Amino acid sequence: MQLIDIGANLTHESFRHDVDAVLERAQAHGVGRLVVTGASREGNEGALELARNHPGRLYATAGVHPHHAIDYDDATDARLRELMREAQVVATGETGLDYHRNYSPREVQLAAFERQLIIAAEFGKPLFLHQRDAHDDFLALLRRYRDRVPAAVVHCFTDTREALHDYLALDCHIGITGWICDERRGTHLREFVREIPSNRLMIETDAPYLLPRTVRPQPSHRRNEPMYLLHICEEIARDRNEPVEVTAANSTATAQAFFNL
Ligand SMILES: [Zn+2]
Repeated sequence: MQLIDIGANLTHESFRHDVDAVLERAQAHGVGRLVVTGASREGNEGALELARNHPGRLYATAGVHPHHAIDYDDATDARLRELMREAQVVATGETGLDYHRNYSPREVQLAAFERQLIIAAEFGKPLFLHQRDAHDDFLALLRRYRDRVPAAVVHCFTDTREALHDYLALDCHIGITGWICDERRGTHLREFVREIPSNRLMIETDAPYLLPRTVRPQPSHRRNEPMYLLHICEEIARDRNEPVEVTAANSTATAQAFFNL
């Protein structure tokens, strides 16, 4: 099976010392290609550098996460526009809204999100989106730009069935992480993940976060790695009542088409 991890935060400091070993382990576990999430000004540069150093294996996104929206200034906007011209940068984002933590004020998040929607529209890039506790505002803003961007994935989807169908109605893709492997808080996803059309479903680790709780034994360091992506694929296959090979092949084909890999 060949899998594509559409969201790995490989620029996180926990990977600084062994990213090559992490990529080797990923490859050995069927994860040949990964999209490295760019979510901050510095992170975007690191993600692009990784992608340049691993052509055909690593790709990058470039954006500013809502947590960092307060840092979004004209220079950031100008640099994002330059990054969109790089062949290795395959999506605009991570961008969106996060009212769970509100590290940046809501008005600031909304403004940074809209500026990135404009960039995605101008450059014809797919969107890599984050939404937490902000569904109504997020949906309203996304809806205004949806026709002008080629594609959009709501990554690390953890919301309700109603929210899921709002996004599917806007022709969005859905990214599922190891959240679904968490029997304490992910069981609602297990009930409706089968409602996602196979050509709209992609899988991601969000490493180093969200270590799947189905990994046995749990590594003592608790760091999630792309090598665990198959655990997520297996849980989704169980919930969709389909062979894991089918889930794997469909999610890989969907990611390839979405990011134009
Ligand atoms: Zn996110």
